[in-house]
Amino acid sequence: MSEETERTYGAEFFRSWLETAGAAVDREADRLTELDSAIGDADHGANLKRGFAAVTADLEKETPATPGAVLVAAGKQLISTVGGASGPLYGTLLRRTGKALGEAEQVSRAALAEALGAGVAAVAQLGGAQVGDKTMLDALVPAAEALGTSFAAAREAAEAGALATVPLRARKGRASYLGERSVGHQDPGATSSALLIAALAEVAG
Ligand code: ADP
Ligand code: MG
Repeated sequence: MSEETERTYGAEFFRSWLETAGAAVDREADRLTELDSAIGDADHGANLKRGFAAVTADLEKETPATPGAVLVAAGKQLISTVGGASGPLYGTLLRRTGKALGEAEQVSRAALAEALGAGVAAVAQLGGAQVGDKTMLDALVPAAEALGTSFAAAREAAEAGALATVPLRARKGRASYLGERSVGHQDPGATSSALLIAALAEVAG
């Protein structure tokens, strides 16, 4: 058994993940907004920046005791502070992943992979989208699956999934209004999802 397989992750790890994700969103906000200006309404960077600032401030006040509670609290912040479609979708992702982790104080990578799978399924249900529709799911679905192998595999799968949205025609969300004109642009939500998964891999080291 490798070291990574045996390792478990507590509330502090999850707080670090969300803070690192928030820093990445801050750093890449202009790029996310640029991508959203091509096939959306140019607010994705600002939306996530606002949401993750609220998540970070909330977790600084008091970090919940379990991984599940950290993710549920962060999901609630995203739902209440992000105006765009991505707020309820990312909020649902974190809340449902957190709920699937239950009350455990420490979770394994395998348990997180399974919980993230449940979170991703909830996003698909809420938004009615599936892989190939040019949404965040194009990064999240392969990432959750690859997390069963390793954190690094999840990061690579998310990045590949985000890149693979370029030639797709959007079938959900604002970009779908553009029809064929959405082809040739990378989906902003798939790009931010890849950032979140990269932050997870970074914190896992
Ligand atoms: P809005 O589209 O309301 O301006 P954002 O710009 O914050 O919201 O987020 C846009 C991103 O949300 C898209 O790039 C896409 O990845 C994701 N998205 C939009 N609709 C859906 C959906 N129905 N299912 C999954 N993801 C979606
Ligand atoms: Mg937008």
